[in-house]
Amino acid sequence: MSHQYDYIIAGAGAAGLSLAWELLHSPLRDKEVLIVDSDLEPKNEKTWCFWDSGAPPFEDIIYKKWNQIELSIFGEHVVQYLDHYPYYCLRSIDFKMKVFEALESVQNFTLKEMDIVDITPTSAGATLVTSDHSYTAEYIFQSCFLPHEHLQSTPNYPLVQHFLGWEIQCQKAIFDDSILTLMDFDETVDDYLAFMYLLPWSTKTGLIEYTVFSDQLLEKKEYEEKISLYLNNRFGLQPIHYNITRREFGKIPMQDRPFVPWYKPNILNIGTVGGRTKPSTGYTFKRIQQQVKDIVAGLSTDEHPKADPPSQKRYRAYDLWLLHIIHNHPEEARKVFNHLFKNNSIDEIFRFLGEETTIMQDLHIMSSVPYLPFLHAIWESRDRIWEI
Ligand SMILES: Cc1cc2nc3c(=O)[nH]c(=O)nc-3n(C[C@H](O)[C@H](O)[C@H](O)COP(=O)(O)OP(=O)(O)OC[C@H]3O[C@@H](n4cnc5c(N)ncnc54)[C@H](O)[C@@H]3O)c2cc1C
Repeated sequence: MSHQYDYIIAGAGAAGLSLAWELLHSPLRDKEVLIVDSDLEPKNEKTWCFWDSGAPPFEDIIYKKWNQIELSIFGEHVVQYLDHYPYYCLRSIDFKMKVFEALESVQNFTLKEMDIVDITPTSAGATLVTSDHSYTAEYIFQSCFLPHEHLQSTPNYPLVQHFLGWEIQCQKAIFDDSILTLMDFDETVDDYLAFMYLLPWSTKTGLIEYTVFSDQLLEKKEYEEKISLYLNNRFGLQPIHYNITRREFGKIPMQDRPFVPWYKPNILNIGTVGGRTKPSTGYTFKRIQQQVKDIVAGLSTDEHPKADPPSQKRYRAYDLWLLHIIHNHPEEARKVFNHLFKNNSIDEIFRFLGEETTIMQDLHIMSSVPYLPFLHAIWESRDRIWEI
């Protein structure tokens, strides 16, 4: 039996629920919408962080905000105020509970917990198939399946940002909870980039992650040994001084994939599978917010979702060159980061990574880092540039 909806959202993660929230707060709030996910239980499994110069999305459930940031590389520590771009953190559990609560208060948004087996186009829209049902809609917005084109191709730089984090509770106050550590580079490794990322929730609690940019995942114990050593070296903490209250493992693609907006006709890719992860940084959450706004704006005005690429071409080119350097010459990448942090304010760097700069500001950033690695990257990736 097939049930008809206006829209179906396949996948209730960051992108699917952000889209549901945006629809609920738009002129399309009376549409019949189905949201399907294999697991609808909100869990404290992820944190989403981002910087923002204005009111942040989901401001009322921001878990923590920092106005100071620390970066550390080659023994040089930089602590800076974030005058324009405070750094925010949201917990996935708070986000999901907030959106579910809003959805439960309306009749026309339906949540179903089911495995999605397939999503296929039809002449009038698209069908979502589970093991015992099928549901049709004018459009399906999906964050579950990689586009066919990506499955068929091998990325030139198969980099992954992978990390394992511990949330810890210490016996004594050890953190300055007004400062987050964005990157404290591990200089004991040569063939990939790795750094510690520390989000202090309070003086006694925080999330500390060992983050790696490389092709290959590490053994779980390797990330954990690094975290344990760091806590000891930097804060003098032995395992008896803290409890690990939660573990977080994640993999985020950092790849120069071509942008594929449509999974199939009438089925739009959203979120990570919709190309919203910035290849050179892995940050996705804010870009998802822009994507869902664009989709709803398109549906409201033209009855057709806008499917624009997430980045202008010049930013895609910068990402490509930086990926090339990180992948092929990690030792050069460390030098690039060192100069970037030394010669620019973090606000300037965030503006650049958030793709809000003018060309003059781009040139200023570029002239602050060693140019030879970029000249090599431009030359060595010259064939790829035409595919952007
Ligand atoms: C641990 C972690 C931390 C991250 N931290 C940050 C951060 O700090 N800042 C940032 O900007 N980005 C971050 N990211 C990257 C990105 O923001 C997240 O991965 C984000 O969740 C992507 O949203 P999404 O909706 O595309 O995918 P997801 O949130 O993964 O949602 C996809 C949904 O689809 C469902 N699904 C998949 N297949 C099926 C199926 N066959 N049937 C039914 N349901 C299915 C899944 O259950 C899931 O709920 C992080 C990623 C990870 C993994």
